[in-house]
Amino acid sequence: MDFSLSETETMIRDLARKLARERIAPRAAHIDENEEFPHDLVKLLSEQGLMGLLISPEHGGSGAGPMAFFLATEEIAHACASTATVFGGHYLGLDPILHAASDEQKRRWCPDLASGARLAAYALTEPGAGSDVVAMSTTAVRRGDHYVLNGAKQFCTNGDVADLVSVFAVTDRAARHKGISAFVVEKGTPGFGVARVEKKMGIRGSSTAALSFEDCRVPAANRLGEEGSGFATAMHALNLDRPAVCALAVGIAQAAFDHALAYAQERKQFGEPIAAFQAIQLKLAQMATEIHHARLGYYYAARTMQSGAAHHERESAMAKVFGSDVAMRVTTEAVQIFGGYGYMRDYPVERLMRDAKITQIYAGTNEIQRLTIAKSLLKGR
Ligand SMILES: Cc1cc2nc3c(=O)[nH]c(=O)nc-3n(C[C@H](O)[C@H](O)[C@H](O)COP(=O)(O)OP(=O)(O)OC[C@H]3O[C@@H](n4cnc5c(N)ncnc54)[C@H](O)[C@@H]3O)c2cc1C
Repeated sequence: MDFSLSETETMIRDLARKLARERIAPRAAHIDENEEFPHDLVKLLSEQGLMGLLISPEHGGSGAGPMAFFLATEEIAHACASTATVFGGHYLGLDPILHAASDEQKRRWCPDLASGARLAAYALTEPGAGSDVVAMSTTAVRRGDHYVLNGAKQFCTNGDVADLVSVFAVTDRAARHKGISAFVVEKGTPGFGVARVEKKMGIRGSSTAALSFEDCRVPAANRLGEEGSGFATAMHALNLDRPAVCALAVGIAQAAFDHALAYAQERKQFGEPIAAFQAIQLKLAQMATEIHHARLGYYYAARTMQSGAAHHERESAMAKVFGSDVAMRVTTEAVQIFGGYGYMRDYPVERLMRDAKITQIYAGTNEIQRLTIAKSLLKGR
């Protein structure tokens, strides 16, 4: 497998790195402290053409591809995991449109999503249906040229700020996963509301909203794909999102490592920099090794996706599990290397440790990812 980056991928990574280090990183602590949604940074990423990396030029994007999207995610997360989550939530909301929309629908929505004029979100999870997606209770009932949606969605990234939300609802309960359909619900549609915005441990600048649908009339022209194809559309988006979560986790881990490496060379105890002690060196070596392999995980998933392989859910799940576990271990070790100062909010590593935790949970918990990996192994795929 060829891991060398194309000219476009290199250009996107370098652009994202420059923006992240110069413009995003200086805002990260403030965004976290004030739980402030980074509207200015979304505008910056939009102006720089980073919101449409997966949208074809025909529909207003750059068509740079999944590797470019993952590389940009890592760079943004290195600076600010909240902003990277907003960025990832946009692509998660966008993928159902790319995967299942008709050409007319793509022409209707993609140019604004590519330019960042409109932000996307993805609403699958419900209060009673997290890992068990098929247990969802939101319904969509056809009434002439509309569907009437009723129900509640939980933990929707960008849910309160998005202009377009990819929503999944049951159209035929008896058909189970083949009875779920996907819809685009536009902000301002009567009956569509924000029930609550959550307060979180980490990624505190990203917004996570509970959404409500009360006799919400959605035009049939906003249904994505055929009735009953929504589950496959939802899974397609998650298979894209999981390596993106890996890239986000790698960005957090790399930032924690960079801080720990610098601190270990500055901080003196027993008359020497703590980096002179082998116990610290072993930690640094292990952290760097794990980050390197986690990064290869999303590279591998990107290239597998780009090869046109029919199935890449195993590679996506493996990247997500490994990358997120590495982020948790590396950020915890970084706090340890900082000693008491690591526990203080004056230093960035405690934020990185809080931010890392979500990567083991969202886009499907790591327990569920391990089950997905096992299922694919047992099928001999
Ligand atoms: C900050 C944040 C942002 C999110 N963004 C989005 C979003 O944009 N859109 C969206 O739709 N969702 C989003 N989610 C939802 C997220 O994907 C779910 O929280 C996650 O899938 C787990 O669902 P749950 O929270 O209901 O946990 P549960 O499914 O209730 O799981 C609880 C625990 O039980 C374990 N468990 C469950 N079933 C099994 C099993 N069969 N075997 C072994 N262990 C099991 C889980 O691994 C977990 O440890 C977000 C969540 C958060 C916290």
